[in-house]
Amino acid sequence: MNAVSLRPSPIAASVDFDRDGVQHGHLKLPYSRDDSAWGALMIPLTVVKRGSGPTALLTGGNHGDEYEGPIALFDLARTLRAEDIAGRVVILPAMNYPAFRVGTRTSPIDKGNMNRIFPGRADGTVTEKIADYIERHLLPLADLVLDIHSGGKTLEFVPFAAAHLLADEAQQARCVAAMAAFNAPYSVMLLELDAVGMYDTAAEAMGKVFVSTELGGGGTARPETIAVATRGIRNLLIHAGIVDGTPERRPSIRLDMPDGACYVTATQGGLIEFHVALGAAVRRGEPVARVYDVEGTGRAVAEYHAGRDGVVAGRHFPGLVQTGDTIAVIGVPIADRGIVRPSRRR
Ligand code: ZN
Repeated sequence: MNAVSLRPSPIAASVDFDRDGVQHGHLKLPYSRDDSAWGALMIPLTVVKRGSGPTALLTGGNHGDEYEGPIALFDLARTLRAEDIAGRVVILPAMNYPAFRVGTRTSPIDKGNMNRIFPGRADGTVTEKIADYIERHLLPLADLVLDIHSGGKTLEFVPFAAAHLLADEAQQARCVAAMAAFNAPYSVMLLELDAVGMYDTAAEAMGKVFVSTELGGGGTARPETIAVATRGIRNLLIHAGIVDGTPERRPSIRLDMPDGACYVTATQGGLIEFHVALGAAVRRGEPVARVYDVEGTGRAVAEYHAGRDGVVAGRHFPGLVQTGDTIAVIGVPIADRGIVRPSRRR
């Protein structure tokens, strides 16, 4: 523990997390600026509580250009009644609220990427202060954490829920069970390119049951992907014993990401032409996209190939690509009980 982590958060919640009933309120973060000298950021949240059951923490808008989470959670916040639950549901529809308000992945205030900044800092930037509050005040309340992502403006995904390989196999099994309960069309054992600073990592390090999702992308939300979010949230709350009822079960394709060969990465910028659609089956070595050098006509094109047999689970969304962009993400279909690789810390 260093002195910084003991500093109190400047954020004050207008709700009482221990009170029964429905409370709509804000996390108030003082933010002095040119157009509001003694102003504050008012980050919406809802707490619904009845009795002493488990707590679910439901978050969206971790990145500000991903919309299934905010839509499903603003809707849940307005419709969930205390009499519908046993326990507590904390709903934070737009974690990186400044980013959400302008529709960008990162914060317009400090360029903070909420999912790379945990555990945050109480005396840091605006994004660090929000992360620190979540780390020290919201995550400790939770038994189950669901963070709803999609691809944002630069990626799109087949709709999937995700769990990670964890050092604690029992915790990993609980996360996988929760991922399966969410019941997205795809369920993925996700290999992160770099897990440092992620909200996922913070929640998992606290021993929480954590489920993430990628439900679509392109900087918008579609009716079918919003329905996946809404159905998944209800299924997960039933799984946690917070909501009564029968989960709505549909087939879910289990995908694994065994190694970095699942990622196809651009080594030059240009105009991208995909050869395969999102969700298509591909064979190792099969061309997935070509990139045209647009500095002139008649130039050689760069062909990109699948590094594994699998399914195109994600792809670059805009028509132009830069060096280093993820062009495609290949998931490897496995049998439902097929996750038998020894666990390792990501
Ligand atoms: Zn995201």
